[in-house]
Parts: sequence; C-alpha cells; structure tokens
Amino acid sequence: MTRVEVVIIGGGIVGLMTAWFLASEGVDVVLLEAGDLGAEASGANAGSLHLQIQYPEFVKYGEDWAKAYAPTLRFLEASIGMWQDLGQQVGEDLDVKLGGGIVVARQAAQMRLIEAKARIEASVGIETRILDRKELLDIAPYLSDQAIGGGLCAGEGKANPLRVTPAIIRAAEAAGAILHRETSVTGLAGQAGAFTVTTARGSYQADNVVNTAGARAAEIASMLGMQIDLGGFPLQVSVTEPIAPLIPHLIYSAAGKLSLKQVANGSCIIGGGWAANVREHGGLATNPVNFTGNMAMAAGVVPQLTHARAVRSWTAWVNGTPDWRPIIGEAPGIPGFFLGLFPWVGFSAGPLTARVIADLVLGHPPAMDMKGISVLVD
Ligand SMILES: Cc1cc2nc3c(=O)[nH]c(=O)nc-3n(C[C@H](O)[C@H](O)[C@H](O)COP(=O)(O)OP(=O)(O)OC[C@H]3O[C@@H](n4cnc5c(N)ncnc54)[C@H](O)[C@@H]3O)c2cc1C
Repeated sequence: MTRVEVVIIGGGIVGLMTAWFLASEGVDVVLLEAGDLGAEASGANAGSLHLQIQYPEFVKYGEDWAKAYAPTLRFLEASIGMWQDLGQQVGEDLDVKLGGGIVVARQAAQMRLIEAKARIEASVGIETRILDRKELLDIAPYLSDQAIGGGLCAGEGKANPLRVTPAIIRAAEAAGAILHRETSVTGLAGQAGAFTVTTARGSYQADNVVNTAGARAAEIASMLGMQIDLGGFPLQVSVTEPIAPLIPHLIYSAAGKLSLKQVANGSCIIGGGWAANVREHGGLATNPVNFTGNMAMAAGVVPQLTHARAVRSWTAWVNGTPDWRPIIGEAPGIPGFFLGLFPWVGFSAGPLTARVIADLVLGHPPAMDMKGISVLVD
C-alpha cells in the first residue's frame, strides 16, 4: 500500500487545481482519475464564465430561491477574478475574456423579471445594467430587432476549456503532484490520518482525502456513509463553423435555455443546459430534438446564425444539486474528508473551489468564508 498525505479523487478542473495548489505548498499529493484527466465536464463544457443568477432558474424557482442563492454570486465573482490571472500563472493563453453577459428579452414581462433579478444581484454587490431597446442594440447590433431590452452583467465572459485542463495538468505535475489516469476509485474507508483508498491498480493510505469526483461524487461520499444531494445530468453543446467577428458578449435569452458565445477562431458555441440522450449502456448521445431547439433558440436571438453551419455537437455529464448550492468543505463528522463540488457552473467556480479546498486541507483560513454559500457551512 502506498502512503501519501493527500489523495484527490477525480481529475476535473477542481481536482487538478487542488492538486496543483497543494503540491505547490510542498504537500505529497496523488490524484486518481477514473478515465482521462479533464475529459469529463471540465474539458467538455461550453466555456462560459457565469456570474449572474441564471434567468431560467430564476423563473423556475422564484425570488426566495434567488435570495438564498445570491451569496454564491460573490464566490463566482472571486473565482472569475482568479480566472483573469490564471493564464499568466500557467504560462499560457487560456482565451479568458470578460466581455459581459446579456440576457435578451422580447417581452415586457421578461424585462420585469430581469429587473427583479438585478435587484437581488445588486443586494450582494453584483451590478447588472438594465438596457432599453436602443441601449441594447447600440452595444449589441447583431441581436434580432425583436429584442426589446436586456440585462448586462459586465463581470461575465469566457475561457477555453480545451486549453485550460492541459495547462493545469502541466502546472500540477511541474509542482510535484502525481496524477494517475485510468485509476477508478472502488473503495474508501477509514478516518483522518488513516484513510484507505482502493483502486484496481492498488491501494493508498492517506491522511486526507478530497472528493472532486464531479457528477459521481455522491458515490464516493457514500463509501464513507455520507449522503449528499448531488447527481449527474446529461448535457449537450454545439459549435458552428468560424464566422466573421460578430459577438463579443456571452448571450442568454429570456425566451428559454441559451448560452451563446463566439470564441477566438470565430466559431460560435451554443448551449445553455439542453439535455443529451443517455444510451442503453450508459454513454451519452446528442438528442436531435434538443439540438434543433437549441440552434433555433440561438438563431432567434442572433439572426446571422441562420447562415452558420453547425459542425459538431458533444455531450457530457454535469454535476448538479437541486438548489444550485455548492458542497464545499470538510465533511461534518468525517475529519480529513473534503468535498469540492460546485454544481452546474463549476467551470466558472473551479479555481476558487480548488483554492478553498487546498486552504482547508492545509489548515489555513479559506480564501472565502463559506458560510451561507456551501451547504456544509450553514
Ligand atoms: C455540456 C456541459 C456544458 C457546461 N457548460 C458550462 C459553462 O459554460 N460554464 C460553467 O461554468 N460550467 C459549465 N458546465 C459545468 C462544469 O463543466 C462543471 O460543473 C465542472 O467542470 C465540474 O468540474 P469538476 O472538476 O467538479 O468535475 P468533472 O470535470 O466532472 O471531473 C470529475 C472527475 O472525476 C472522475 N471520477 C468520477 N468518479 C471517479 C472515481 N470513482 N474514481 C476516480 N475518478 C472518478 C471523473 O472521471 C471526472 O474526470 C458545463 C457542463 C457540461 C457537461
């Protein structure tokens, strides 16, 4: 049995960055990844850096939910702050751009909801500028002339997931972290100072264990008898051929689920939470009805996309919690077992989630007080 200070389970953005931060502080850390590093949600997401409360969830769950969730926006804001320095730290351009995110409305009732949402965002210091039709079309003339206004959150933007995870893998390995691919954790037992982590390739004894297993994190927690309300949800995203520079913003629609951005090579990434199909034996496949719906939604907001060919779509499991609240911290009653799980928008939140977990493992005060943010620290 190999003895290490920290075992991290799951090599997505959170696990990899936690490994990097810990190894940089001289901690003896091994990361175990069931498949390939960064190959699940962290490498397959749409690359949006989300900050504002997501409009469809605001409509679905209402103001009370939004007020309870709002402190989490401060976490996202600080994490996006870390994104701005990340490229420099890893020595690579990660295509991080904060061009602002706009929810586009077509009806007066939608504008009222955007305004109500903006008031809740303002209550935690996140500014969303309300735009009338003229202001909106002045800054985003590529939008459909059916738009009547919108809400602009300047702190939002994008990064390139295909560049991010390889860069973090290199940084973590250069700092001394040991990263094992194709090493699925099948058992976890014990307690602080003496956890036993079992894989088909051998076992580890660790002082501390970090659960960053994304959509499958509940399985890992249950090995220690801990129940968490987190599941995996199948999503799909599509990309168009490159088109001339057109869309500097992250675009959402108040008419339905949409996230739309144009990336460095000119392609437009189109997503927003549309479900993929689950195949009989567990893999995922593009849902053609949702593909069509998602593309139609995008072209309805940005008419020029009617002439852009879609060239690819892809699928992945996202980690989701019912109330959108993250599960970040040391497990109550299981000292030495840490969870780094930010649902739904965990790419945006990845850097700070990893920083907080690394701080806690090191016994330092966390980079952000998690009270009222993580369900573990209510
Ligand atoms: C299609 C899609 C689009 C998205 N778009 C966005 C977006 O635009 N912006 C945004 O902020 N967020 C987005 N998300 C969400 C975001 O990608 C995730 O929340 C985030 O990447 C989660 O990172 P993670 O490190 O926690 O988990 P993951 O990246 O899922 O990594 C978890 C890892 O754990 C491994 N694992 C699981 N079980 C075991 C085990 N037993 N043993 C060893 N390893 C194990 C998995 O193989 C996986 O590699 C999107 C997600 C999807 C699927």
